[in-house]
Amino acid sequence: MPEIAYLECSRCHARLSAEMPQTVCTQCPDQPAGSLYVRYDLSPLHGTSVRDAIAAGASSTWKGMGRYSSVLPDVLPVTLGEGWTPMLKSRRFPGAWVKEEGANPTGTFKARGLAMAVTMARHYGLKKLAVPSAGNAAGALAAYAAAAGIEAHIFMPRDVPFANYVEAVAYGAHVTLVDGLISDCARIVAERKQQEGWFDVSTLKEPFRVEGKKTMGYELVEQLGWEYPDAVFYPTGGGVGLIGMWKAFEEMEQLGWVKPGCRPRMIAVQAAGCAPVARAYDAGADVAAAWQNASTFAAGLRVPKPYGDAIILDILRASNGIALAVADEEILASILDWARNEGIFLSPEGASVTAAYNRLLASGALKSSDRVVLFNTGAGLKYTDVTAEAMKLQRP
Ligand SMILES: [Zn+2]
Repeated sequence: MPEIAYLECSRCHARLSAEMPQTVCTQCPDQPAGSLYVRYDLSPLHGTSVRDAIAAGASSTWKGMGRYSSVLPDVLPVTLGEGWTPMLKSRRFPGAWVKEEGANPTGTFKARGLAMAVTMARHYGLKKLAVPSAGNAAGALAAYAAAAGIEAHIFMPRDVPFANYVEAVAYGAHVTLVDGLISDCARIVAERKQQEGWFDVSTLKEPFRVEGKKTMGYELVEQLGWEYPDAVFYPTGGGVGLIGMWKAFEEMEQLGWVKPGCRPRMIAVQAAGCAPVARAYDAGADVAAAWQNASTFAAGLRVPKPYGDAIILDILRASNGIALAVADEEILASILDWARNEGIFLSPEGASVTAAYNRLLASGALKSSDRVVLFNTGAGLKYTDVTAEAMKLQRP
């Protein structure tokens, strides 16, 4: 495992020390301050022989995400078995794989980022963590905080999927339901954190959630035989996973673990009822404007203005990617299609991706033989109440 060399600002490239807990860049000349990337000296890990030795010895003490401990901070992990999720080959589309993140602890991809954030919080001796969440980050923080013996203070919209509320309460977190959206929750955390002594683990406002999420990039490349797919479809709320995967691709190329120059097209998918990134992408803008009256049953996509909007838009353009918005009706139809024809119960966010995939197949932008990874970021079972409502299904 490497020592952290320094933290690097994504905007002004200032270098900050990782000796103490950091949030966002303190050197940026203007606001919003840049998110921080964790940088290591990776030179001792260069080459495919090191890579293959790591893969061969991966069954050691830290299962799952710990497979990539050689490119994660050298500290004792708080782990519940997150990561190394299945890559399921579609029964109908020869080039398509579903990355089944529902197999994570707490049933979603959020486990990866919060495992790493809580690991570092314990390392730094932090006692109280706070997060605004659209739902699943709250559940994951609550679980890992419980495992670490740290307080979790959670703020999420009153109408989150019920599972998110139940799990957070069960894990013993301090839960506040807010009349509003994640942006309103973020405002409350920002206003109260200093007085309450909370450390804010909001999306892209601490450096280590990206480190956890980057393991999705390492995993999908390893699971495809250390080769890039042609495209990665990612449901984009806060966009940490997209940013983390892109960082993983940069690192793997530096490491000589994958052939450079043929990275996948990154395809960000949002809901038509909350599509700030897709709108900014279409307008050629560098940042997203806040989306008004956000509404979709894909709860994780109700993020009116992601903090990492500029980074996300950069990645989409650099990868020759695209941002798409799909309607709730298309999302519901895709949930039922994949459940009935593939045996996979997608989350609404995951089904936004499969709906977008169908659209690009229909338009001819993609062929069914193109190698694509479709991210199902959470288990459909976490959304039984909102999905049942969309299906107009009631208990008989
Ligand atoms: Zn900066």
